Amino acid sequence: MANILIIGAGGVGRVVVYKCVQDPTFDKITLASRRLSSCARYQEEVKARYDKDIDIAEVDADDIPALVALIQKVKPDMVLNIALPYQDLTIMEACLQTKTHYLDTANYEHPDAAKFEYKEQWAYHDRYKDAGIMALLGSGFDPGVTNVFCAYAQKHYFDTIETIDILDCNAGDHGYPFATNFNPEINLREVSSKGRYWEEGKWIETEPMEIKMVWDYPEIGKKDSYLLYHEEMESLIKHIKGLKRIRFFMTFGESYLTHMKCLENVGMLGIEEVEHMGQKIIPMQFLKTLLPDPATLGERTKGKTNIGIVATGIKDGQKKTIYIYNICDHEKTYKETLSQAVSYTTGVPAMIGAKMMMQQKWLNDGVFNMEQFDPDPFMEALNQDGLTWFVKEL
Ligand code: NDP
Repeated sequence: MANILIIGAGGVGRVVVYKCVQDPTFDKITLASRRLSSCARYQEEVKARYDKDIDIAEVDADDIPALVALIQKVKPDMVLNIALPYQDLTIMEACLQTKTHYLDTANYEHPDAAKFEYKEQWAYHDRYKDAGIMALLGSGFDPGVTNVFCAYAQKHYFDTIETIDILDCNAGDHGYPFATNFNPEINLREVSSKGRYWEEGKWIETEPMEIKMVWDYPEIGKKDSYLLYHEEMESLIKHIKGLKRIRFFMTFGESYLTHMKCLENVGMLGIEEVEHMGQKIIPMQFLKTLLPDPATLGERTKGKTNIGIVATGIKDGQKKTIYIYNICDHEKTYKETLSQAVSYTTGVPAMIGAKMMMQQKWLNDGVFNMEQFDPDPFMEALNQDGLTWFVKEL
């Protein structure tokens, strides 16, 4: 039975709390966030729905001494970082100082530079190893489950995987002309950046949304899918041996792209300070204030998500193509957790990653990505915990 500290009471944090409360692996849960009011809301919901008590605390996760003090007070077996990618390094550092296991769902990002790299998190490997603690990086859906799908394909279907396409479709409709399904700042930074894919040992850069293909997503249908850079590719090229190409595609509707282009053209996606009526503001952060809070979209969202991987390669001398995917229904996830499917598909794997560590099914000293562990227990837990998956031979 584990004592856990969850940091970040946002859209994904709610799902993590709901799922951890229901799983017998975790017997003591503390939810901490920048604002105590965010935690108090979920504490009340959990009491009303499950008649379970969780502790709450206020913490600024940019402040290492404050994090260390909180960890020393709560004495958790592990910390689940469900705040923002900006806080990855400070929370990792606090975990190191207190010798506490760590998990997150997204790659570290510097607030002033929209780029994703594992370099700074991987640099903790030796110090975590020496301290006898583990960090599990990217335990969401993508990154996260997509990495586990690749490891599962490698283990059960191929001698060598040659190509991987990660295919992420959200066909949910929330009825707003424009909104993002998770933190707007993180989301818009991701999709307005240049695209990148990896082929024959090198990265190839594309203009944002330059490469498009149409994919027929099971239970959804044909959708325009655009090539983006996505962080799991950086670890997968290291760990899937023999890989020749990896790409990531995400679906976007016409309206989303038109809004994004206009916002970009007028400078609203800027991440540098501008002077506005004597005040310094960051356009992207101001835009976040104007846009609907992703945590409130659940109630209005209808439709499904479908995220998966298509791997091609060789098995027993034969060419083979495998598609592994999950379909998640926004209305069903709302019923279960008061959250839309994007938060759900991230929060459930975060809980499962913590469960794998606390049950010692995935436990090692150092910093690890998801595909470095045996995929089987994780895949089994996905089916049990609400994210059923399918395998198709194409
Ligand atoms: P939200 O913006 O809804 O929530 C983030 C929460 O973090 C907020 O509630 C905020 O707290 C808290 N927070 C922000 N800064 C601090 C700080 N300095 N100290 C303490 N708490 C802080 O984001 P989401 O829930 O949508 O996303 C959470 C994480 O999940 C992000 O890292 C995102 O990138 C990742 N993600 C991963 C996916 C995957 O598939 N791997 C997919 C989607 C998201 P407060 O309310 O108290 O101000």
